[in-house]
Amino acid sequence: MMLTGGTAIGLVPFVIIRFSSGELWVGLLDAALVVSFTALYLLVRLTRKTFWVSFVLTFLALFGNVISSYLKGPSQVYWLYPTMIIAFYLLPARIALGLNALAVLLTIPAYAGKVDIVTASSMMITFILTNVFAYVFSSQMKKQQDALRQLSIKDSLTEIGNRRALMQELINRKNDRHKQMPQGTACLILMDIDHFKAINDSHGHLTGDDILKGFTQLLQKIIPRRARVFRYGGEEFVVILECDQLSDCWNLAEKIRQHTQSNRFVKDIQLTVSLGVAEIDNKESLDDWINRADEALYRAKNSGRNQTCLSRHQKSGHCEQPSQHAWDGTTTQETTMR
Ligand code: GH3
Ligand code: MG
Ligand code: MG
Repeated sequence: MMLTGGTAIGLVPFVIIRFSSGELWVGLLDAALVVSFTALYLLVRLTRKTFWVSFVLTFLALFGNVISSYLKGPSQVYWLYPTMIIAFYLLPARIALGLNALAVLLTIPAYAGKVDIVTASSMMITFILTNVFAYVFSSQMKKQQDALRQLSIKDSLTEIGNRRALMQELINRKNDRHKQMPQGTACLILMDIDHFKAINDSHGHLTGDDILKGFTQLLQKIIPRRARVFRYGGEEFVVILECDQLSDCWNLAEKIRQHTQSNRFVKDIQLTVSLGVAEIDNKESLDDWINRADEALYRAKNSGRNQTCLSRHQKSGHCEQPSQHAWDGTTTQETTMR
């Protein structure tokens, strides 16, 4: 928006100067660019999408420069340098490099015979240097951005997605479900290792860390490919599962609980885990969805731990039990879904 709006405003004085000095064609070109940039500004403002606008903007700026080189001659070359840098700012480095090279090639006939050999060589060398440096800078920046993005969404201990990654995943899944009529359902399984503080206290924090890693590996082994696991914080984890029906989510939660109970972690330590399951409700917010899973987990803890609880599904303010399974309304330890 800054580039399109700024360029549109910045070009207006040139339109006035060109027309008042009788340069009709250059004036018309500048006026066309002002209209185009204004249209792009409005497009970004209204749609909030920048991908295609970036292409069009770069294309207009570069090839507007090429045309003005033919109309005005070599004095226009100074505008080409900032435009080439803008191309690297707006587009992937390779595409920017390709478009810039094309613009330079198309400009050559406009300057042929109008500049001496030394000036022509200087232009070529400075074009190349500008593009090489901008390419290296842009590629390095992209690599660093990717590395930072990875760091910001990965939990450093367990190497699975962290809470930020979970929120992003939930937003994406909700958006996808809004776009297409989903088949089946989706569930959040929020789990918390029981009495983990006691393990830290008696075996030390490093052993506690190893257990968290072991628990993560266990989860990754158990959950199906279409499910994803995240570290919600501390000794709390979340699994998101898209499945045909609620009972699939419930069965997975119970499988996690049972495998955790029977598994031997480092130093032969045994664990139990409490779980809360909440099915997606398209009408509620993400926070409400997570809160329902949290509420179910809280009930599992309060009912003695090593349990799986299902969120009470709210409809018109009432709490209802899903009808298709043998849920006793509060908690289950050994109950399995029919
Ligand atoms: P509850 O059954 O009620 O969940 O009891 P708890 O002891 O598991 O719960 P509490 O919230 O009292 O303690 C959680 C502990 O988890 C406290 C904290 O030191 C430990 N913890 C959180 N993150 C880490 C971590 O990254 N490494 C280790 N070793 N411990 C952690
Ligand atoms: Mg906890
Ligand atoms: Mg705990």
